Amino acid sequence: MNFVWLDGESNSGKAHPNCSCGKKTVYYRAYNGESLCRDCFSSSIFEKTKKTISKYSMLNYGDRVGVAVSGGKDSTSLLYVMGEIMKGHGSKLYAITIDEGIKGYREESVRNAEKIAEKLGIPLLVTSYEDFFGFTLDEALSERKEAESAYRKKITSCAMCGPLRRRSIDMAAQKLGLDVVATAHNLDDVIQTFFINLYSGDLQRIRWLDPSLGNSKSGARSASRFKLRRIKPFMEIYEQELAFFAYINDLPFQSESCPYMNEGIRTEIRENLNTLEARHPGIKYSTLRTILSIASSLRVAGSNSIPSAEASQKRLQGKDSAKSCKVCGAVSSGEICSACKTVELVSNWKVLNNIIEK
Ligand code: SF4
Ligand code: ZN
Repeated sequence: MNFVWLDGESNSGKAHPNCSCGKKTVYYRAYNGESLCRDCFSSSIFEKTKKTISKYSMLNYGDRVGVAVSGGKDSTSLLYVMGEIMKGHGSKLYAITIDEGIKGYREESVRNAEKIAEKLGIPLLVTSYEDFFGFTLDEALSERKEAESAYRKKITSCAMCGPLRRRSIDMAAQKLGLDVVATAHNLDDVIQTFFINLYSGDLQRIRWLDPSLGNSKSGARSASRFKLRRIKPFMEIYEQELAFFAYINDLPFQSESCPYMNEGIRTEIRENLNTLEARHPGIKYSTLRTILSIASSLRVAGSNSIPSAEASQKRLQGKDSAKSCKVCGAVSSGEICSACKTVELVSNWKVLNNIIEK
């Protein structure tokens, strides 16, 4: 971590003043010049989260709120912060953990989720891809591997896993009767997602980065079938700061990385952004601001979609159809949503592999 130090000296060897409260500085925010002690650093994370929730009207009094907890540092921090913030808010808090079925990786994070939920006294629902779709991610990827040479439909593991996780969270939230689900996406995640969608030309998904789509007024980002709002209370906090927050608050850390994480482009974007931030402190903040204005300027009144030329024509002719998946009814950027497409793909691979084996 290039702007954290624990001994009063920065990585550059330069001494820094005490925190404004007089206590010893443990964290230096290069992007705004703040020197913070342990307590003031932790309070600043609570304050930033509250500010984001209020700025985008993310919560209503009395909401049944779920926190998606993968068991990593960001989501355990989110559960901890939301637990504190929501005390006396009149809302009920639940935790949801989805086990994708990744051997040697997921077991530890599910244990972490169970530990933190128990410690905080928050009810936890653990469920899995196997429960919802009848296969684990490991099984789906092994079908992909076998099918690849015969049936060349290359899709990265994260592109398969992401929609399945979102759909699993929707279904778990429906079981719990939730109004809103908070995910631990941080500022770095939002920027990375923007670039991934920029490179693939997916304007709809850039549009979905607009936090007002998940707020209590429009709720437009919510899946129509699930009537669920999605919020990202950490979207204005650096990933690095959440790691430090988890560390100083003794929250469980995941020691293993997902074995499939380097298949996509996200890791390269993350590294490039970190290099830029180290050389130009604050560049991530200004990038986020630009992304949010792009996302909100893509808004089409009364719709959550970016119209293609053809869709605009249909709308003008009054033939516009609702943007819901034909299979499951969830909000979708195409005729069939990514989760349904992924399930179909895995089942096609299975059929094909069975034929080849015979
Ligand atoms: Fe799923 Fe990719 Fe995350 Fe692994 S890194 S859990 S494959 S989204
Ligand atoms: Zn669908």
